[in-house]
Amino acid sequence: MAKRDSDIQILQALAAARDEHKELAELLDFYRDLYEVQFEAKAEIADPEIRDEMAIRWRLEGGIPQLAFDQMGIEAEYFGRLVERISQVLQRHNPGWELTREVPPGELVAMARQVFESWDTLTAPKPDAQVGSELRLEHPTALAVGFALAPYLQRAAEVLLPHLDLSAWTRGYCPVCGGRPNLALLEQDGARRLLCSRCNGLWPYSRVGCPFCSSKDVQQYYPSEDGAYRLYVCPACHQYLKTVVLELRPTMIPVVERLLTVGMDLAARQHEL
Ligand SMILES: [Zn+2]
Ligand SMILES: [Zn+2]
Repeated sequence: MAKRDSDIQILQALAAARDEHKELAELLDFYRDLYEVQFEAKAEIADPEIRDEMAIRWRLEGGIPQLAFDQMGIEAEYFGRLVERISQVLQRHNPGWELTREVPPGELVAMARQVFESWDTLTAPKPDAQVGSELRLEHPTALAVGFALAPYLQRAAEVLLPHLDLSAWTRGYCPVCGGRPNLALLEQDGARRLLCSRCNGLWPYSRVGCPFCSSKDVQQYYPSEDGAYRLYVCPACHQYLKTVVLELRPTMIPVVERLLTVGMDLAARQHEL
């Protein structure tokens, strides 16, 4: 099935960014190939079921993300083939990458459920996470499973978000999938929106304060040279949040900005700001 227009736009923006940022060529080439596979899958998989209005409201007010794993209707055989295709992309871009032994599709879906229900990022399970030994020992497979789950979550966000009254959601985690943000958008009127690291959903969050620990303290930030980006660091929990100043990046596409700001992630981690 053909990719959706919004996804084609992302691929075009990625290609333009590739021309402009030669220093990120390797990274952007990998994501182009990954997104090609993910976006094709996203156009093929079934839409998640939508809860009735009362249930949606109840979850919003209770701080419970809308999406449950079984709602996505992940079909094991299809998921297995998707993991295989993504493994091939990983291998193509990582010489020496070890393709792991074949894992039965049902087991791959079980791994996807663990990743989903951990509310952690899809591709970097913590070593101490409550996961089966498979996930820890078979890291390449775990990575491919996380990347294969992404299109299901992205589709869920596209389908569910229009049904949500986000004024009822003030949490620092995603109203759709429960994921944490890894990019913020600072609007011209001073409002702030967060981008989910898992499903790419966007939701509003208060202008000040930390979405990770809910501290209301004013956050310190480090601006980029041109002022278009800021790296906010929470004085309470020391987590950081990359932020795009929309006034200076009016035509940006959040998913692409997340990749273009990879230098900020490195700086934050190396200097433990
Ligand atoms: Zn999400
Ligand atoms: Zn914090």
